[in-house]
Amino acid sequence: MNSQHDDVIAVDSAVPAEVSELDKKSRREKIYTRAIEGRFQRLRLYTGWPLLLGYFLLPWLMWDGREAILFDLPARKFHILSLTLWPQDLILLAFILIIAAFTLFTVTALWGRLWCGYTCPQTVWTAIFMYIEQRFEGSRNQRIKLDQEPMSWRKLRKKTLKHCGWGLVAAFTGLTFVSYFVPARQLLPDLLTFSADLGAASFVLLFSAATYLNAGYLREKVCTDMCPYARFQSVMFDKNTLVVTYDTDRGEPRGSRKRFASKESHQGDCIDCELCVQVCPTGIDIRDGLQYECIGCALCIDACDSVMEKMGSPKGLVGYASENALAGQKTTGIPPKILGYIAALLVMLALFTSSLFNRSLVDISVSRDRGQLYLPAAGGLIDNVFEIRVTNRSDEVATYRIEAVGITGASILGEESITVLGGELFELGVRLRADPSNLPFPGTPVLFRAVSIHHEAIYAEAESRFIRPAL
Ligand code: SF4
Ligand code: SF4
Repeated sequence: MNSQHDDVIAVDSAVPAEVSELDKKSRREKIYTRAIEGRFQRLRLYTGWPLLLGYFLLPWLMWDGREAILFDLPARKFHILSLTLWPQDLILLAFILIIAAFTLFTVTALWGRLWCGYTCPQTVWTAIFMYIEQRFEGSRNQRIKLDQEPMSWRKLRKKTLKHCGWGLVAAFTGLTFVSYFVPARQLLPDLLTFSADLGAASFVLLFSAATYLNAGYLREKVCTDMCPYARFQSVMFDKNTLVVTYDTDRGEPRGSRKRFASKESHQGDCIDCELCVQVCPTGIDIRDGLQYECIGCALCIDACDSVMEKMGSPKGLVGYASENALAGQKTTGIPPKILGYIAALLVMLALFTSSLFNRSLVDISVSRDRGQLYLPAAGGLIDNVFEIRVTNRSDEVATYRIEAVGITGASILGEESITVLGGELFELGVRLRADPSNLPFPGTPVLFRAVSIHHEAIYAEAESRFIRPAL
């Protein structure tokens, strides 16, 4: 038979008195989060896993015989599936960054810190590290006790296993990150045989150490003290933005109560169990109102929903709500700020698409031979020597005809066509011969053109000058 006492959920009733004291003390120094399950945590799992799998597996994916995603810095080429981007395509990268920024602004204005709570790498990796911590050191209360215990074999074993787990995840994270710049199939064996390039190995070490430190130790401090996004996102918020909130009208006055008792008593629905505080990764109390430390992870919603379920009260005492919704005001239409973000996003997407599909598939640059200004040739003619660099920016082999236009009767001596592999650069020395009588200036402009012999519409041109002696 349940006693009256059994029906009351007391504050941290499962925790021994000495642990509760330790708990209060430790909260100021280190946050011990309690694990919780619920619908929003399942959502985080479903959204997090595809992103994690994508991050770890993409460097191993091959596409047309090469890595599907590779930022090849030494060759100054970025491969993204069948697309190869060159330094000249940096504008596309700028568009991608601007599009990402406006997407983030729009999402934040509509749904608050969705990025921080569900997809930010800091949140995701911290969750992985916390999971490992719980696997080896136990529940929240067991971890608090373990940290207070003097060193023993048991404690050493638990701590060592935890740090090995963290180290393994951090090492794979660092290795994967560098694999976006150095092919993974080359980097991993090189690292295992200690024959990796020193620069690549150093970066793997650096990113592994950063992951270990950020997700293992700094955790919420990255969000609360270091992340600039946390500071300026409040300018994107308005009264219609969805944020995690505590329903004060329904919850107060808080305090222990019997199940199903809120309707009869003058007591609010909050039983002051502090479960919402214990699960919070940033250690805040959502009942104190909207705080910039809140990353919108919804752990407190799941925690409070589980308590409300046990108490026989409706869920949602802590939940997603806008300021207007809490005040009982209806939202009409889309606010101008959101419309502005969406309009800017659409313009950027249109510019990006047009730049991507209209970018030239061939590039040419010309420089004069620095050795001699001009060379006298038979019959009173003059030669100039040029260095021509043709870049095939497509993924297929292409043959180009080299033309020189702008000087009557000028002719190229030797090779006039070149074959360039997809994504490669071809350097060619060109000797151009002209009659001085057709050169009106000491430095007459001449245009060099590389024209695809299969698609005449694909061409690139670059200007230089043909030098002649003073007449
Ligand atoms: S208050 Fe709630 S939503 Fe905000 S960080 Fe803490 S647990 Fe996450
Ligand atoms: S808001 Fe919910 S979880 Fe937090 S103390 Fe009150 S009843 Fe407990």
